[in-house]
Formats: sequence, structure tokens, C-alpha cells
Amino acid sequence: MRLTSADARAHLDAVLAVLAETVVGLDFDGTLAPVVDDPAAARIHDDAPAVLADLAEAVRAVGIITGRPARQAVAMGDLDTLGPVMHERGAELFVLGQYGNERWSAGSSRIVSPRPPAGLASFERELPAVLAAADAADAFIEHKGLAVAVHTRRMSDPEAALARVSGPVGDLAARHGLDVEPGRNVIEVRSSAMHKGIALRTLVEEQGAGGVVFVGDDLGDVEAFEAVRELRTAGLPGVTVCSASEEQPALVDLADVVVDGPDGVMDFLRTLASTPGR
Ligand SMILES: [Mg+2]
Repeated sequence: MRLTSADARAHLDAVLAVLAETVVGLDFDGTLAPVVDDPAAARIHDDAPAVLADLAEAVRAVGIITGRPARQAVAMGDLDTLGPVMHERGAELFVLGQYGNERWSAGSSRIVSPRPPAGLASFERELPAVLAAADAADAFIEHKGLAVAVHTRRMSDPEAALARVSGPVGDLAARHGLDVEPGRNVIEVRSSAMHKGIALRTLVEEQGAGGVVFVGDDLGDVEAFEAVRELRTAGLPGVTVCSASEEQPALVDLADVVVDGPDGVMDFLRTLASTPGR
């Protein structure tokens, strides 16, 4: 764990002092789950169930805030099993899927989800032709219900392919009134009405949190980092943590604390869970 911002130590200590009232927000891929070539093959870190169960005794609530559909994250983390364990040990587990458009909680065990955004269906119909014109016909299109992801990870030169499709996919999204979220060898297209910062703020307010932590690794996490900073300005202790990787250095500069990928995230959460005086 590296403390990288000027006031990182003070921010971390302020959160530790109110840990029992703190909401911990966690991204999924690259943070709780190691990144793998096939997004459908991702699984939560082997240590996560035990670490999160211990964390439940130390904090008020845990929210997994992800671009994935909530149902996928629940399955990949076996959260149907973990959620009740965490509840028993003192903290509710939430999954805010599709950047907060969907919500699952251990207490309700069902997914509440709005209708797909206007324009998404026609975007999806026109997308294959746009990819073909950008010499990226074999990019993998993931239909996520409320969003579409275009993955170049499995192509021969993923970064070059991403560079070729970024402009045309962005133009097509704009024509249909949709937002684009770039990531690691992926472009997500979704409704402009929601992002992780809104999802995190909502959870903090609902829980009456006395502190907030957010851990993320990618550009889709920037709004959640900003939300922590805004809440801090308003007086709420908060810390931002970057799960650093070779592929996405951008977030490191925005974080108070930098850890080494999902292994480092597990260590950071163990540190929270073992803080005395809770
Ligand atoms: Mg991520």
C-alpha cells in the first residue's frame, strides 16, 4: 500500500476513526476480480469471501459498483452465499450494476432494473456495420441489457483496434443520444443518466454514512473518486484507492492510496477489517 496524495495519511486516519459508520464502495473487474481475457470467465478473488466477511464486522455497508449487469457480478462473486454471511456479521452487501442502474442487495435478493435507454436498440442494430467499416468486424460485442460493450481484448492488436473503433463508435453513440465510457480494451455505450459517482453518493446518503471509501482501477471509476472528494469537501471523511495495473495508469494520479491490483486490494481491506477500536 502506497500513500500517494499529500493528505493521504490524514484522510485514511479520518476514515479509520469512523470506520464503523463507513460505506465501502468497490469496483468489480480489476479491483475485486483479476482481469482475464474473456470477460465472461472473470471470477472474484479467491480471498474475497473471507476478507469481505471480516470487513462486515468493521464497516456499515459494502457496495460493489460495477459496469457489469448486477446478475453477472452476483454470480461471479457467489454473492448469494456471501451476502447473508456479511449481513449476519453486521454489514449489508449491495451490488449496484450497470453503473448504478441496477440494484441487488443481500436483503432483497432480487434485481431492480429500469428499462433500456432510448436509442440503444437502434445503436445495436447499426453497430456491426460500423465495426466492419473500421476493420474491426471481429471485435466482441457484449449485450448487457442497459448498455453495450465493444471489446478488442481478444483481437491481434487490441490497442490499435480500440483506436480504430473509438471515433466511429463514439459518433454512432452520439447520434443515438448515448454516452461512451472508454476502458481497458473496451468501449462501453450506455445511458448518460447514471455513473458510479451518483451510485456511490446514493448509497452513502441512504446508509447515513459517517465515512466513505472507494476502490477502483479504471476510467469508469473516475466519477466515484470525484464523489469521494466532493463528499470530503462537505465534511465527510473519505479515501480513494487505486487498484493499479500496467494497462491503466490514469487513475493512479487521482487516488490517495495505490495498491497492487486485486491482491493489493485484499490486503487493504484486511487492514480495514483488522483496525482496532471498532
Ligand atoms: Mg474495474
